Amino acid sequence: MKYQCPCGYIYDEEKEGVKFEDLPADYECPECGLGKDVFEPAE
Ligand SMILES: [Zn+2]
Repeated sequence: MKYQCPCGYIYDEEKEGVKFEDLPADYECPECGLGKDVFEPAE
């Protein structure tokens, strides 16, 4: 499963080894700094 930030950054669960839902609530996009709540499921 992948999740995409509005800035275009994609969080790939397989690559990161951590499920998106298991990331801390204060996780921020490494590209733009927005929070988890703005990410949308991709694919
Ligand atoms: Zn972003």
